[in-house]
This record gives sequence, structure tokens and C-alpha cells, in this order.
Amino acid sequence: MPKVSKKQHNIDAVVIGGVGFNPDDYDFRTIKVNTPYGTVKVKTGNIAHRSRILELALIQRHANNDTSSGAEHLPPHKLNYRAYVWAVRSLGANRVIATNSVGTMGSHPRGSFLVADDFIDLTRSRVNTFYDDRTVHVDMTKPYCPEISDSLLNSLENNQMEPFKGVYVCTEGPRFETAAEIRMLGTFGDVVGMTGLPEVVLARELGLCYASLCIITNQACGLAGNKLTADEVVEMLEMKKETLRTILLDAIISLPAHSNCGCKDAIKGATI
Ligand SMILES: [Zn+2]
Repeated sequence: MPKVSKKQHNIDAVVIGGVGFNPDDYDFRTIKVNTPYGTVKVKTGNIAHRSRILELALIQRHANNDTSSGAEHLPPHKLNYRAYVWAVRSLGANRVIATNSVGTMGSHPRGSFLVADDFIDLTRSRVNTFYDDRTVHVDMTKPYCPEISDSLLNSLENNQMEPFKGVYVCTEGPRFETAAEIRMLGTFGDVVGMTGLPEVVLARELGLCYASLCIITNQACGLAGNKLTADEVVEMLEMKKETLRTILLDAIISLPAHSNCGCKDAIKGATI
């Protein structure tokens, strides 16, 4: 694993996903962070929220193409997860909130939010570790930071939204799931998406505090009785972006100055 070179920016939190924040609405600047895995475009700047000034960084997952393909919206199986997570570390930040759009396999209403408290990884083609040169079995007892997750759940309650939590199932995509797959996945998971893995694992390997706020954009395939379209997902994200921003910012301002969770020690005792 390469050495991390840290730069201090005093960033309160990094949001990976970027739904809800149109960086053009703020006085954000774009910086390019070089990582051993490629260059990452990061938008960074201050946002005033409830009498606090927060310094945030945004990594827009799908709009971060440093390859020559020219695609404006990178598909989930082609995202450079290692570069994104490495960039967080390079910025000197410790806290990450990921936003993930998901389909529900339960009874969560469309437009509601769920905080992931565990995951099942069904991805197939993605590089899922920083440790290629030695054997490191990082602990996954609590894959998501309990402190940030609690803060997100409180924020949902304070904004009169049901604080759902549950198991996130990550599929490879880019196709949607079949109805039979959803019947199976629904027996052990709550929501299904394509972007949460291996990001959470990589964050854990670097000892970062990482939580995931999932936006329920649709019912999973085969449950609604009609064809699932990508437009339906995009529409819901657009409708919910202001709520999402409030929930995130409320959660970030209520975090303690210093973390009291064990995330930074996740890698202790993991190396053979
Ligand atoms: Zn933590």
C-alpha cells in the first residue's frame, strides 16, 4: 500500500455522492487531488448553516472522470472508489458521509431516508482493498461509523422524518435486478443499490469514519408492478435534494469536535 501524504484543510466532513449540493450554488472551488489510483476532482468551500460555518468537501462520484472515455456520468461499476477514498485521506479529513440512492425491498416510502447499519456485498468486478502487498483482514463488526450514523438518525428525527436504518445490499449493476433476485435479496436486506461497496470497506481500511445516508428513490424491481426506469430515480433525487442537504448539514454540525468511536483503530490487529 502506498504512503499517505496528508494535507491539512480542517474539513468538517467530506460528502461522497454529492446529490443535494449543486457546487455552483456555493462559492466552492475545485481542487484536483492526485492519488496513487488517479486524480480526483474535489469541490471544497464553506457553507453557513444554523449560525455555524462548515468547511465541506464534495466528491461527485459519477462526475469524476479522469479517463479518456469522456463519459459525463460514470457507471457504478467503473467508479474509481480507491481514488475517492484515498483523496479523503490526502485532504486530511476523517469524516465521510456517503449518499447512496437505493431501491427499497421493504415498506419505506419513496423519498424517505435510511441510514445503513450493515451491508451485503454482491459486487463482482471491483477492486475492494488497498492492501495488495500483504494480507490484511479488516474488521467489519461495525462497518459504518456509529457516531456519524447516530447523528444522521437524530437529524432525520429532528426534521420530522422517520429514522430508518437497515442492511444495504450492493449489486454489481449497471442493470437493475430481476424480480427473482429482489425476492431473494429481500429476505436478508432492506435496500439495494450499486455504489456503496467497496467504498465503505476502503474507508475502514484507512481508519476513516464513514456513514451512509440512503435515499429511497424507488421500490426495488418487481415490487411496484411497473417497469423501473432510471428517470424515476433521477426525479426523486431532484425532488429531495434540499431535504437531503438539511439532514446532512444538521448531522455534521451536531458531531462532537473529536470522535469517540473506534473507527480509526479498525486496522489494528488486522495484519497477518
Ligand atoms: Zn467513527
